[in-house]
Amino acid sequence: MTTLDERRAVRGPRAHRPPARARPEHVLVPIALGAAAVIALWWHDTPAITGFGDWLTNAGRVTGLLAGFAAVVLVALMARIPALERGVGTDRLARWHAMGGRYMVGLVVAHALLIIWGYAVTAHTDVVHQTKTLLVSYPDVLMATVAGLLLVGVGIVSARAARRRMHYETWYYLHLYTYLAIALAFSHQFATGADFMTSRPARVLWSALYVAVGGLLLWYRFVTPLRRALRHRMRVHGVYAEGPGAVSVWIRGRHLDELRAEPGQFFRWRFLTRDLWWAANPYSLSAPPAPDMLRITVKTFGEHSGALGRLRPGTRVFAEGPYGAFTAGRRRRRKVLLLAGGVGITPIRALFETLPATPGDLSLIYRATDWADVVFQEELLRIAESRHAALHYLVGSRRDLGRDPLSPAVLTRILPDLAAHDVYVCGPDGMTTAAIASLRRAGVPRRHIHHESFEF
Ligand SMILES: Cc1cc2nc3c(=O)[nH]c(=O)nc-3n(C[C@H](O)[C@H](O)[C@H](O)COP(=O)(O)OP(=O)(O)OC[C@H]3O[C@@H](n4cnc5c(N)ncnc54)[C@H](O)[C@@H]3O)c2cc1C
Repeated sequence: MTTLDERRAVRGPRAHRPPARARPEHVLVPIALGAAAVIALWWHDTPAITGFGDWLTNAGRVTGLLAGFAAVVLVALMARIPALERGVGTDRLARWHAMGGRYMVGLVVAHALLIIWGYAVTAHTDVVHQTKTLLVSYPDVLMATVAGLLLVGVGIVSARAARRRMHYETWYYLHLYTYLAIALAFSHQFATGADFMTSRPARVLWSALYVAVGGLLLWYRFVTPLRRALRHRMRVHGVYAEGPGAVSVWIRGRHLDELRAEPGQFFRWRFLTRDLWWAANPYSLSAPPAPDMLRITVKTFGEHSGALGRLRPGTRVFAEGPYGAFTAGRRRRRKVLLLAGGVGITPIRALFETLPATPGDLSLIYRATDWADVVFQEELLRIAESRHAALHYLVGSRRDLGRDPLSPAVLTRILPDLAAHDVYVCGPDGMTTAAIASLRRAGVPRRHIHHESFEF
């Protein structure tokens, strides 16, 4: 039997290549080109537009085509494609997905209204009669209407105000209805879409796009996690209190180096106990990954996080990942400041130990409202000493530290050459926003500020 190292040696240099990372433009340019190709398809199939009804119908056609294209793009963004996850970052992909979702729902509604209105004008009838005719005469249109209503429903529950009131998992499982909606809407594109009814190549290409994205989704969201679960056989090794409100969970597994997880990344963790198996929550690695062990550290305030303190050694763990682009790969400059707020210290702690830096080039500022919330004090001190890195705490309420504890004045007092640093920020969203504004005012260019959001 060959060992892992022997197999690596046989596979040659490919096995040691750094993981692929897409840059945002590698995603945005193909999306823009795809949208342009969709409009070109409509243009090609539309020799002339005559009359108001025809204008409306054509506007309906083009919005429908763009909605169909948006559907595959939105699914691809969430397919957990490793090069996108590592390069663009899960939080940015989720933001693009949310924004694109709003456009798509708008396009779907516009498509339905414009087509009905356009047909009604052309047929000299009213929109109610035309709607009935479309629903009764075309079964594919009926299915697409159900799909459209599902999409609007998902759009409503995803609106920030509604989502905040909902349990995360309720929102998540409702969101899965979008897949059903896409499947239901697919056939009406070929059955009634003028651009596809007459062109076999257009049908083939459109189907290939859907099949390819469906394949990516199946592969990366289902097959890969399953294969990894069987290969790595992760189990809880131990749970240790880090303070009054935080625990570290050590997870043991086999061949974990093959995952190529990097400090700063996270996994979605599913602990297979009676209470927790249905939830997969994201937690960052709080220590550099070892070939047989991973560690996460969790603030125990909610239902899921609170239950982690009660995990027993030996509990099976199903981990999806690694995900995220908050890694050394983002760094552009020699000097680096790591800025952590509260539980945002977890990925920062792993980066503090591993980010390549010569003595004096690495600094960490750790902001917390109370010393009781500060974790890893001994570890951070040990790392700071061994790496000759600077470690600063900003602990206290705003009453004690002033209205803006991370103001440009405070930051530049700690690091006078702040503007010459790359800065990694991780913390609650409010703190992150304030810190980024301060860093910008202190002269750190936007492209040298890297942040990870704990809220999707
Ligand atoms: C990339 C990333 C890395 C993270 N790393 C850490 C970490 O190292 N340590 C830590 O303590 N926390 C981390 N978090 C936050 C952590 O995932 C949530 O606080 C936790 O899942 C909340 O679960 P709960 O049961 O405590 O609270 P709940 O009351 O169930 O949820 C509170 C809020 O947490 C968020 N949330 C819940 N479940 C999920 C989920 N499955 N996916 C995304 N968001 C969810 C939602 O915004 C929800 O409203 C991270 C979050 C992200 C997105």
